[in-house]
Amino acid sequence: MDYEAVIGLEVHVQLNTKTKAFCGCSTEFGAPPNTQVCPVCMGQPGVLPAMNEKALHKSIQAGLTLNSEIAGYSKFDRKNYFYPDLPKGYQISQFDYPIAKGGFLEFDLPDGSVKKVGITRAHMEEDAGKLIHAEGTSYSYVDLNRSGVPLLEIVSEPDMRGSEEAFYYLKELRNIMKYTGVSDVNMEEGSLRCDANVSIRPKGQKELGTKVEIKNMNSFNGVRKAIDYEIERQISALGNGEKIRQETRLFDSAQNKTFSMRSKEEANDYRYFPEPDLPPVVVDKETVEKIKLTLPELPRAKKIRFMREYGIPLQDAEALTDDKDLADYFEETKRNYNGEAKKAANWILSEANAYINVKKVSALDFRKIVTPSSTGELLNFIEEGTISGKIAKDVFAEMVESKKNAKEIIEKKGLKQISDTGELETLVNQVLTNNPGEIEKYKAGKLNLMGFFVGEVMKLTKGQANPKVVNELLRKKLEQEIL
Ligand code: ADP
Ligand code: MG
Ligand code: ZN
Repeated sequence: MDYEAVIGLEVHVQLNTKTKAFCGCSTEFGAPPNTQVCPVCMGQPGVLPAMNEKALHKSIQAGLTLNSEIAGYSKFDRKNYFYPDLPKGYQISQFDYPIAKGGFLEFDLPDGSVKKVGITRAHMEEDAGKLIHAEGTSYSYVDLNRSGVPLLEIVSEPDMRGSEEAFYYLKELRNIMKYTGVSDVNMEEGSLRCDANVSIRPKGQKELGTKVEIKNMNSFNGVRKAIDYEIERQISALGNGEKIRQETRLFDSAQNKTFSMRSKEEANDYRYFPEPDLPPVVVDKETVEKIKLTLPELPRAKKIRFMREYGIPLQDAEALTDDKDLADYFEETKRNYNGEAKKAANWILSEANAYINVKKVSALDFRKIVTPSSTGELLNFIEEGTISGKIAKDVFAEMVESKKNAKEIIEKKGLKQISDTGELETLVNQVLTNNPGEIEKYKAGKLNLMGFFVGEVMKLTKGQANPKVVNELLRKKLEQEIL
């Protein structure tokens, strides 16, 4: 039997507001445990939550980027369950009236095709605290700093057909949320979390198979592996005549396997009811239109524009727009550079990126070390033949270390390229006179010795000779030798 996989994702995005969803506590990550708490987010009785307007604003922004309809009326509900990281005994969430409904997300797949995945809804809720299970103890700690941090849960339609589509859906979603500035989308810090719903069905069948929900994946590759494992597990289970149980499974990244956590029968009944302490959320059309104007150009639109406007290949456009700050860096460099955009893209993706990685800085911080206009100026020097590409790499290294600009470094160190034919001819003659044996070999047919001769001239000039001029001069001289 030929099976097809069906996948729907539920993604929790932590909104990067300064304060929590319903109180004024800080949301800063990494503070000592239980230092960012108050009676509201600790769930003490008699307190009154109040909606954080920024969290609503960011939720609307996020909904708009997903082409969703923003609800004029939405409300909060209590989702009741008991767990030690949830001292109130309920989570404030949205049940039947979410802030955003419908919509879709479009993204590119490596084979060049475009995938469109439907968005079911996006609703606002609050995060729970964190349990810390210290090794060697028979008890656990609870840290409530995260309790009450605003979340947006984005639920997709079951439109994906394999782990690759899920992977690229997540990547696009992450980039959009980052571009829009609604979230830090850091999977390690938990500001982006994903549950995957996976089922299989015989190819051609319309009805969906029984789904399994996978939790506990903490990287994009983890999501990919968990889904692949789960598809295989379900196919072999059906092959063995077993039935798929509707259940929640946990992914173990060390073993690359999923394990059953609870079946649907044991699942919670959340007994949702309207949150009496918070008024409904009413958003008028004008507000939505105003927020629409705050949205930046989204990553895919930017990528497509880069290819069209700058004539750079898809791979470069993708690598540049993967990080908005790097994309901005490229565009500003290009504005200060008279050569081809492709050369600026190459330089940024190899040279600048190397320092960004080595120095472990963001593209945004890198521009404080070497500004895009400095990089543009350096590239102009290569373009004009003032310095060679090779010397430019050394100059760039110095720019990174000293924060000086290219012109200063080139002048101070006397790095200007030697293109003067007379000066270079003298050096070419010197090299030839010093290597009669090599000339004989060259004459005998070892033509790749050309590289050796060029290298010798380069050595004499500490790399400053214009390689094109040196090549031409050598070719002429050696031709004369052969004749
Ligand atoms: P639940 O009530 O169990 O949370 P929902 O219907 O709300 O289920 O769907 C949750 C997620 O599961 C959505 O992303 C949806 O697209 C996905 N989903 C629903 N049914 C299936 C299925 N049969 N196979 C794969 N994913 C599914
Ligand atoms: Mg669910
Ligand atoms: Zn608080």
